[in-house]
Amino acid sequence: VVGGGVIGSSIAYHMAKNKMKVLLLEKGRLAGQASGAAAGMLAAQAETDGKGPLYQLAKESRAMFPRIAEELKELSGIDIGWVSGGIYKLALTAEEAEALRQSAAFQLERGDRAEWLERQELLSRLPALSETVCGGLFLPEDGQVSAPHLSLAFAKAAAALGAEVREFVEIDEILCEHSRVIGVAAGGQPIYSGTVVVACGAWSSRVLSSAGIELAAYPVKGECFSVVTHKALLETTVFTDSCYAVPKAGGRLLIGATMEHGTFDRAVTAGGIAALLARAQALIPGIARAEWEQAWSGLRPQTPDGLPYLGSHPQLDGLLVATGHFRNGILLSPITGRLIAELAAGGEAAELDPFRPGRPLTLRKEGGTIASYH
Ligand SMILES: Cc1cc2nc3c(=O)[nH]c(=O)nc-3n(C[C@H](O)[C@H](O)[C@H](O)COP(=O)(O)OP(=O)(O)OC[C@H]3O[C@@H](n4cnc5c(N)ncnc54)[C@H](O)[C@@H]3O)c2cc1C
Repeated sequence: VVGGGVIGSSIAYHMAKNKMKVLLLEKGRLAGQASGAAAGMLAAQAETDGKGPLYQLAKESRAMFPRIAEELKELSGIDIGWVSGGIYKLALTAEEAEALRQSAAFQLERGDRAEWLERQELLSRLPALSETVCGGLFLPEDGQVSAPHLSLAFAKAAAALGAEVREFVEIDEILCEHSRVIGVAAGGQPIYSGTVVVACGAWSSRVLSSAGIELAAYPVKGECFSVVTHKALLETTVFTDSCYAVPKAGGRLLIGATMEHGTFDRAVTAGGIAALLARAQALIPGIARAEWEQAWSGLRPQTPDGLPYLGSHPQLDGLLVATGHFRNGILLSPITGRLIAELAAGGEAAELDPFRPGRPLTLRKEGGTIASYH
């Protein structure tokens, strides 16, 4: 398994759990890229519009967390900070309020829980919010985890089950013979394996190109920051189209995130953080008096149609791809790990059909400009 982010680590964990012999290779530190930067929201309902194939997969993955939290704690000793307190998806304009009301009706019809709250009711539940909010949707089944802890816990639990985990090993080539994968090479040294899983996040296309495979995918940089207060400003995550605020233990409040398409530059910019802070402060005025903690960034792996690539690659036998989870890789990590491990063991996973790596791509409409701050 190439890539020690949350996706590669979950796959390694599930393969080890299925008693497969696994080697997990990471070019830097485990969880050192997007998976360590993520806010950790499990926003199956808040992030998706409830219509595409990703919605079902996201809900299935969200449902796996209570069990995963227990298993990982037992095997790795790491508490992944799973909280199922729900997410409030807020409307800042009358149009957004109408769209959220429709979305609530649609989700209720499908048997999902969603509660529309008028402004006063919302403000009585979340007094830290600005009076300018127009209302919001409470999605009680969404939740959150600590993303870096989850990612590390998957890797450590995989190791506890017998997987070999190696950091600071950069794979520069996928080795093949007669349209079959035979392993990978690092620093000119071959490492042989009948199955290779590429889970390199925003770098997956680069790694695959060494085997002559083109995968349309690109990075979307996200910048975040956190503040701290003695008394928590919020107890439940709030989510808008322009920013979100995720309460963590000890009065930390994590604010995310900017979006900048197509760059591998992880610099945290003054402009990005200033724009994000302005949006967050307009939503939660108390942020102005909170103590500054830190700012950071990460590169989300995105695909042209907005769906991840999950499954066997049609060009090379033995090659599996698991990338392109964009803003939802933390949420989707348990189900991705389970299904890719099943495929690696020679099984089938029909639910992955819409996500197969060789599918024809329909371009997804992207709102905003190249560097839009939300
Ligand atoms: C600011 C921000 C906020 C986010 N918030 C959320 C959220 O709230 N909820 C959610 O579900 N998702 C969220 N995401 C998205 C989530 O972080 C990603 O979808 C997820 O982390 C992708 O995981 P990954 O393992 O594919 O990628 P990564 O974590 O980037 O891991 C890929 C790994 O592959 C390694 N690698 C690359 N090339 C090689 C090579 N040649 N050899 C060896 N190793 C290699 C890299 O070093 C890296 O560690 C957020 C992302 C960002 C940036």
